[in-house]
Amino acid sequence: NLCIGEARAAEQMGAQIFEQSRVIDIQYTDRPVVKTEKGQITADKVILCGNAYMGDLVPRLDDRVLPSTSVIIATEPLSKEQVAQCMVKDVAVCDSRTALDYYRLSADKRLLFGGLSNYTGLEPANAEEVMRSKMAKVFPALRNVRIDYKWAGNMAISVRRMPQIGRIKNSNVLYVTGYSGHGVAPTHMAGRILAEAVDGDSYRFDLMNKMFHLPWPGGKLLRRPAMAVGMMWYKMLDAI
Ligand SMILES: Cc1cc2nc3c(=O)[nH]c(=O)nc-3n(C[C@H](O)[C@H](O)[C@H](O)COP(=O)(O)OP(=O)(O)OC[C@H]3O[C@@H](n4cnc5c(N)ncnc54)[C@H](O)[C@@H]3O)c2cc1C
Repeated sequence: NLCIGEARAAEQMGAQIFEQSRVIDIQYTDRPVVKTEKGQITADKVILCGNAYMGDLVPRLDDRVLPSTSVIIATEPLSKEQVAQCMVKDVAVCDSRTALDYYRLSADKRLLFGGLSNYTGLEPANAEEVMRSKMAKVFPALRNVRIDYKWAGNMAISVRRMPQIGRIKNSNVLYVTGYSGHGVAPTHMAGRILAEAVDGDSYRFDLMNKMFHLPWPGGKLLRRPAMAVGMMWYKMLDAI
């Protein structure tokens, strides 16, 4: 709803949105050229904000974020008794572990329960069952409720777990990526910083651009297994 509402607001202010137009190449000329399969656009400024989904479009960014999959399930609407058994207050919760669970009630009193950081970047085949058993560990009373919905998506994990805002090769192509699973609020701050930069006030953009954005160690081949081993270690610490 947030995304759709913001898209509508942007269109009302004159923005044009072209869906199903994957960018497949960028020329870093003074006026950058962005190419899709069916066309191209020449722009004064380009902002890359594909987060975990850009693949190797820009190798410099690909090296600096690791896509990780997270899954959410939504139960059937819960009865008053079930709600009282699991959520004393109607708040959003996440725990403090490295691979954390997060949950809240929807307006129609379903429990939305998310988690499962998976560094293969793929959704596990039995994701619903894995999530149900995670939910049952926290809320045993909900072990047998019906699961009505399940969805998954990729988060872009950066080494420092901080969003990375910068510029590609002194060009007019700016980027923001690496929200590390916590992007709903920071995307709005980053949007403002990038809008200021495009508008000629680059003070805050320059501060962010100066931060060194670390590449993931291990290169393309080893970074995923290295991260998986690291996560196993932290999951073990979480468990003891
Ligand atoms: C299951 C799940 C639960 C989450 N829960 C929370 C939460 O509770 N709180 C929180 O703060 N954050 C949460 N996050 C993270 C949050 O969703 C992201 O940080 C946020 O969506 C990032 O916004 P974005 O606009 O940068 O990227 P996205 O929302 O991923 O949008 C990127 C867009 O770029 C497009 N794109 C990519 N490459 C190209 C290309 N080559 N050409 C054209 N278009 C392209 C994609 O199609 C997509 O539409 C969650 C993420 C997941 C997956």
